Amino acid sequence: MRVVAPARAVAEVDGLSGRRYRAQDGIYEMSDRDGRALVALGGSVPSLAGATSRRAGYRCAACGFGSFFTTCSRCGGTCIKE
Ligand SMILES: [Zn+2]
Repeated sequence: MRVVAPARAVAEVDGLSGRRYRAQDGIYEMSDRDGRALVALGGSVPSLAGATSRRAGYRCAACGFGSFFTTCSRCGGTCIKE
């Protein structure tokens, strides 16, 4: 998986597996396990567009569930744009 480095200055990181990764233009190509660990530490998964890691979405007013649709897929409530 591809992971965007937490900070531009971070050019190298050790994965949980002990493997050392080197970023290419701020992007790491890692195993899924190491990639998820880096995301937990502040890395982000690049979007298909490549520009931002967050898409504009909606959030359920009733339960707080994040959604890309105006109807909550968890409780059926109404989601508002965030
Ligand atoms: Zn909801």
